[in-house]
Amino acid sequence: MVRIALQFEAMMENLTKLVPQGEDFRWYLKLKCSHCGEDSGKWHYLTVEESTPVKGGRGSASLVQRCHLCQRESSIDIIRESIKPYCAEDSEQFRTMIVFECRGLEPTAFSPRIQIHSVSGIQNVNCSASWRYVLYRVSFRFAKCCSMIDFFHSLCYQSSSRCI
Ligand SMILES: [Zn+2]
Repeated sequence: MVRIALQFEAMMENLTKLVPQGEDFRWYLKLKCSHCGEDSGKWHYLTVEESTPVKGGRGSASLVQRCHLCQRESSIDIIRESIKPYCAEDSEQFRTMIVFECRGLEPTAFSPRIQIHSVSGIQNVNCSASWRYVLYRVSFRFAKCCSMIDFFHSLCYQSSSRCI
């Protein structure tokens, strides 16, 4: 099992924070089998509200699938409490938005699609169609959380940022 963080970087202008909207927010990922390296290139989505039981009494995960090459069953799960908004003071720095618990599946790409909801200082603005116009130089990367300590440090660091 490995924990992988999705980190986000953008230049924020006239926005106080970006948050994924609702428990049905779809995190679109491309996934690779970490046993045999198979990457189908297809997009899959994970949400907080959807989960599937994992065989062998290992709880449930956001996505469970069997690799069509090596036939091994693998899963990837959203760590709900890891989801954090991207705030104005984070602008132009990589910050973790979400952490995935990976058992045999690793994310290789992320697509923001729509539904990223921005909150301005004055009113809620749903800029799902136009968020690219208020964010500049948007980029994403994945980072392995080497241990639980790193994971909690990262959460503590984020929660100490001054976003409301
Ligand atoms: Zn495989």
